[in-house]
Amino acid sequence: MAKYKVGILLGDDIGLEVVPETVKILREAVKPFAGIDIEWIELPVGMPSYKENGETLPQKTLNTLFDLDGWILGPIGHMAYPKDDPKAINPHPILRREFDLVSNIRPAKSYDSVPSLHKNVDVVIIRENNEGFQPDRNVYKGTGEFMPTSDLAMSVRVITRRNSQMVARSAFELARQRNGKKKVTAIHKNTVFKLGCSLFLDACREIASEYPDVTFETAVVDTFSMQLVMRPQNYDVVVSTNMFGDILTDLAAGLVGGLGMAPGLCVGPKYVMAQATHGSAPDIAGKQIANPYAMIMSGQMMLSWLGNLKQDEEAVKAAANIKKAVEEILTEGVNVTPDLGGKASTSQMGDAICRILSRN
Ligand code: NAD
Repeated sequence: MAKYKVGILLGDDIGLEVVPETVKILREAVKPFAGIDIEWIELPVGMPSYKENGETLPQKTLNTLFDLDGWILGPIGHMAYPKDDPKAINPHPILRREFDLVSNIRPAKSYDSVPSLHKNVDVVIIRENNEGFQPDRNVYKGTGEFMPTSDLAMSVRVITRRNSQMVARSAFELARQRNGKKKVTAIHKNTVFKLGCSLFLDACREIASEYPDVTFETAVVDTFSMQLVMRPQNYDVVVSTNMFGDILTDLAAGLVGGLGMAPGLCVGPKYVMAQATHGSAPDIAGKQIANPYAMIMSGQMMLSWLGNLKQDEEAVKAAANIKKAVEEILTEGVNVTPDLGGKASTSQMGDAICRILSRN
């Protein structure tokens, strides 16, 4: 019997709608497999936690996460948090750093039935998660941004060989495993960032030498952005430093139907966190029109990753069944949310996926 302890952190706004659908579907997917035992643990986070506990990330939540295998984190609407209260912090950078979740794996896949700018797209962007320009997590204490005078702002960019190697390894492993072009494209701007981007590329080349079966190429971020918009079909796995990857993953989502179609998985040596690329979408929160695809597929990736880690074929199979059921729903194009051309609510789309899974 493979046992898993998985956390549920609803997050804010549409998180309260899309995360429960994800949990519902994961529960349904593992039902036929007697060898999988998931203990689900709901933990407070975000604005609902602030209202109840006075903190957006209570210590109890942090402490409990250390005992888990992984968790689902709903989107965080931190722009709406009180600005002057140190207890109203943005939880997700802290979680990414505290749990060493260095690689952020973000697929962008087109479907024939989903309105999108391009078809036949199947690219995965792996972004470094904890350093780069992100000032809220790239230094040990303090912040990577500061103002020496009222007219001068400085932002420090951090690149380490360790994290660069880790994201590169995630990229090469994925390129080797998945049924794609077996190609990794490393994104940089070493024409300008001669030290930081060169270090990143060096680390990528070191790892590339261990994967002779995977093609390795490099691309300058500005040229690559144009290429990705025009010919996304040329790419397989893309690996990038933090800020370039942050921007490129939203761009890639825009090519295949928008943020509702952009799942994500944050992984480190020990922990895994399912976290969709999109934010908390306060403009549509509470209306039951949020597309749950991104969050559901983030959960699906988490189950598959945990299954592979524990060499649990049943969990890997359960995850594959979710993917198949979601693809069936998208192909039918009826029980899908309005952004996908349907009339279903968020929970009706989740129910329809569960119905397919229950036939297994
Ligand atoms: P957003 O991603 O929340 O929304 C951008 C647009 O995409 C909105 O029009 C929204 O309705 C739409 N959208 C997003 N997810 C959708 C879904 N699942 N289905 C259908 N439409 C969807 O970005 P924003 O509006 O710039 O930010 C809102 C809040 O989220 C802010 O507080 C921001 O700081 C935060 N944010 C959090 C994360 C995160 O938790 N990883 C990421 C980005 C933004």
